[in-house]
Amino acid sequence: MTLTTRIVLAMIGGILGGALIKLTHDSGLLGNTGDIILYDLLANGIFDIVGQIFIASLRLAIVPLVFFSLVCGVLSISSSSQIGTITVKTLSLYLITTAIAISLALFFALLIEPGLGANLALPQAFVATDPPSLKQVIVSIFPTNPIAAMAEGNMLQIIVFSLLFGIALKGIGDSGKPLQQSFQRLNDVVLKLVTMLIELAPYGVFSLLLTLFAVKGIGVIGDLSKYFFLLLFVLIFHGLVTYGLFITLIAKLNPFTFFSKLRSLSVFAFSTSSSSATMPVTLRTVTTKLGVKPSIGSFTVPLGATVNMDGTAIMQGIATVFIAQAYNIDLTTIDYLMVILTATLASIGTAGVPGVGLIMLAMVLEQVGLPVEGIALIIGVDRLLDMTRTVVNVCGDSMVSCVVAKSEGEFDKEIFDSKI
Ligand code: ASP
Repeated sequence: MTLTTRIVLAMIGGILGGALIKLTHDSGLLGNTGDIILYDLLANGIFDIVGQIFIASLRLAIVPLVFFSLVCGVLSISSSSQIGTITVKTLSLYLITTAIAISLALFFALLIEPGLGANLALPQAFVATDPPSLKQVIVSIFPTNPIAAMAEGNMLQIIVFSLLFGIALKGIGDSGKPLQQSFQRLNDVVLKLVTMLIELAPYGVFSLLLTLFAVKGIGVIGDLSKYFFLLLFVLIFHGLVTYGLFITLIAKLNPFTFFSKLRSLSVFAFSTSSSSATMPVTLRTVTTKLGVKPSIGSFTVPLGATVNMDGTAIMQGIATVFIAQAYNIDLTTIDYLMVILTATLASIGTAGVPGVGLIMLAMVLEQVGLPVEGIALIIGVDRLLDMTRTVVNVCGDSMVSCVVAKSEGEFDKEIFDSKI
């Protein structure tokens, strides 16, 4: 069985196993002793431990992976001006696709009106933490201390430092050759480490999903079904149609091949609900399955995992309309334009970890004068949606990596067409 098949089976097994445990618990069939075995010993015990170790081991690879692969990426790029072109292209594509995502979200939300007549009572007050200001976000991209940036896992700062370090290492010419080779070897080691960790994925995925569906629960959809299914629809629509069009029309690649190669990556994103934890797998997928040269992927993927969150922007757009309708507050055209702008910025500032998109939603709501407490209305169903939007987030990173690589001539069509 291929690894992808095992990962997909693990996902199905985890979801079914978790749902079964929950059902058995709810039916009261096994009584107290059964609950202790099913919940305390299995779901909340062994499987929770395996799941958490799995996420920790993925995150363990992130900082060394970004640092070594980005330095090696810069070394293999012909000129500093090419780095400039790649940066501009990548950032523009990330911004454009996010703006399309949020516009689609607003369009469908206004068409379907998910919050109309919702008349939802406000549950207990939701306390929003203050999102950082745009100025803070921009200044904080530049590191003062690279070691601190790595210790904190501050991705944008690590990216900036790695780029500068790579350019400088290249700049010292021949005397830097031995160190360049050491970096290549260290990069090989980290890539091997990621490969080893991915082999363990079926156990990790199974455990994470079993715990989630058995214990943590995914929320009762109930009154929120219109919001829930609309959001799900727009996420899938954007993932398939928008990305499919970019891949077909701009990268001139076969969209079916593209999507079929994203299967196991999607399961990773779905079960971890974190584009940051999934990043090592995203990088591996775009380079070894999609044919993006590491010189491009090592830049576009970490950057995307940090700033490109189309799925999150879609949630923020639909949630804003939903909350406005549930509170009977009319938004003007200017308000909607503000939503597009702030949701794009908010999704850039959203860290790729579970649930952060909802916190950043506060920034969007405040911008158009909607009550931040409205977030409490949708928080109950956010877990499953978070998992799905994370899939869209990482697929977006992969799509942009392909488009940029193709346009820079740093793309291996043979790998893309291969059966792996
Ligand atoms: N969980 C999402 C991600 O990691 C972020 C979010 O929307 O909360 O991509």
